[in-house]
Amino acid sequence: NSATKAPPTPSPLRFSKYFQSNMRILVTGGAGFIGSHLVDRLMENEKNEVIVADNYFTGSKDNLKKWIGHPRFELIRHDVTEPLLVEVDQIYHLACPASPIFYKYNPVKTIKTNVIGTLNMLGLAKRVGARILLTSTSEVYGDPLVHPQDESYWGNVNPIGVRSCYDEGKRVAETLMFDYHRQHGIEIRIARIFNTYGPRMNIDDGRVVSNFIAQAIRNEPLTVQASGTQTRSFCYVSDMVDGLIRLMEGENTGPINIGNPGEFTMMELAETAKELINPQVEIIGVENTPDDPRQRKPDITKAKELLGWEPKIKLRDGLPLMEEDFRRRLEVPREN
Ligand code: NAD
Ligand code: UDP
Ligand code: UDP
Repeated sequence: NSATKAPPTPSPLRFSKYFQSNMRILVTGGAGFIGSHLVDRLMENEKNEVIVADNYFTGSKDNLKKWIGHPRFELIRHDVTEPLLVEVDQIYHLACPASPIFYKYNPVKTIKTNVIGTLNMLGLAKRVGARILLTSTSEVYGDPLVHPQDESYWGNVNPIGVRSCYDEGKRVAETLMFDYHRQHGIEIRIARIFNTYGPRMNIDDGRVVSNFIAQAIRNEPLTVQASGTQTRSFCYVSDMVDGLIRLMEGENTGPINIGNPGEFTMMELAETAKELINPQVEIIGVENTPDDPRQRKPDITKAKELLGWEPKIKLRDGLPLMEEDFRRRLEVPREN
């Protein structure tokens, strides 16, 4: 009788579908700074398979070397401005240079990456029914007239300036995300990332934290641009990755600010780097770049309430971790 009959043995396919929640995850820009830390975290979960698509413009295979050859990992040389055919459940779409030096180097390419690249990843998400997360930026607030910035602020952005390829590009990318969501029912997530720092940043990429740390280690003057009274808020990369994963896994589309609300003037940052890394180093004033935002600090009420997220690592604790990584790569050990 049926009560004593053994249940049918599930086929391997059925078994994997019903008893494991395996996820195949695409990370565009996964060879970059934030992307490679995100990959490390995703790979820690044995149920995840990770595919990275990157054109190595600012990223490098070196950042992923511990995963190359791993059975759950795949690395594809691919430019997101070209269509991509893969079968995935989730897409973390990070591909885009983030440092002003690199995004201004070929501004037309930057806007293509933001617009065509995001369009392609949305087309992919639509075809395979994947959830997609965009790493947008605090730059969508431009030179903000509201302080701190919350997600309802529409921003103060110059549409024709030298930073526009990046900040207007990200604004269009956000628009595309919401239009695919409304028009095609795609599941979207938008993170507005504020300045992030940590190990693996390009040593010479020109961003302020990497500049000051490299300069202090090399005993070169710390270059404070303009008066040094402009402010930024710096988030350590492990906190950032934690916020991105919570946003992807949660129920909210965003946009949600992810950043550390601790606000510093660039002069304070230089003084902190000097004190922690090299008390002998000089601090000098140099000319600033055009359209530099005067102030920036996230309001993270939404991230706290909707994601249960807030950053844990203070600037004074994060800088030494980055110093250690830079010293190793620059081959300048600490003297004491
Ligand atoms: P990064 O430059 O280290 O990484 C970007 C990665 O994207 C690199 O590996 C690069 O090679 C790749 N890439 C660039 N153009 C590509 C293209 N056309 N096709 C495929 N790959 C391409 O920068 P990051 O700091 O890791 O930033 C990652 C994301 O986070 C970016 O979308 C950036 O706009 C966003 N973000 C970063 C910060 C920050 O402070 N780091 C702040 C706001 C937003
Ligand atoms: N696309 C892609 N991978 C896919 C599906 C689509 O790269 O698996 C690209 C496609 O080449 C197109 C873009 O995504 O340029 C938008 O696709 P969608 O289907 O939304 O628009 P359409 O192809 O109808 O213009
Ligand atoms: N900055 C600086 N010295 C440097 C590099 C940058 O004083 O060597 C300043 C820059 O003028 C800006 C802030 O640091 O006000 C942050 O610049 P960054 O390029 O790191 O990022 P942004 O937030 O502008 O994208």
